[in-house]
Amino acid sequence: MRCDARILQLLFPSVLFTTTAAGIHLTFDDGPHPTATPAVLNILRERNIQATFFFLGQNVQQYPDIARQVATEGHDIGNHSYSHTNLLFKDEAFIQKEIIQTEEILESNLGKRTRYFRPPYGYFNLTILNVLKEIGSTCVLWNIDSKDYRSKRQSDMERRVVPHTSNGSIFLFHDNKDTAQKLHTYLPFILDILLGKNFIFKPLQS
Ligand SMILES: [Zn+2]
Repeated sequence: MRCDARILQLLFPSVLFTTTAAGIHLTFDDGPHPTATPAVLNILRERNIQATFFFLGQNVQQYPDIARQVATEGHDIGNHSYSHTNLLFKDEAFIQKEIIQTEEILESNLGKRTRYFRPPYGYFNLTILNVLKEIGSTCVLWNIDSKDYRSKRQSDMERRVVPHTSNGSIFLFHDNKDTAQKLHTYLPFILDILLGKNFIFKPLQS
């Protein structure tokens, strides 16, 4: 998995699979969500951890106050498309609309543009990368998938995440309907293990 990420990073230097920045990087996809996102914020605030949230344009339209709260608490915001459609086989006009419309929604609600885009399901192609280049954005994937949408046991999550963590790791988590009810069972547990190992959490911008 980590080796694959390194090869892909060589093939697509404009795509971040891991970073060279010191620290480890938590990312949360699919929000803002009315219960999951505030729950994640509480867990992060209690631990003084900063993360990056990849928002969907349609969810920002629905929950603009939650989006603003995330930004107010110092977390970085990225673009995760408008509707979470798989963009892989869509034409350029559709891809542009999904990305640029979301940028406009984020800018009008948060007062600033994003620098990062995470494609739905992690699927990207050269058309997507070209659109991102035009707007000065970088495609960001991950190298540690928590599989939080399907994990139930803390031990499974620990085994999936902790042994693979090193500086530059980018973790994929979700604040959506699939994790809203259970994130309190694994997220504080995993974060406390990593804090106990003296890893420093940073948003991607740092
Ligand atoms: Zn997603």
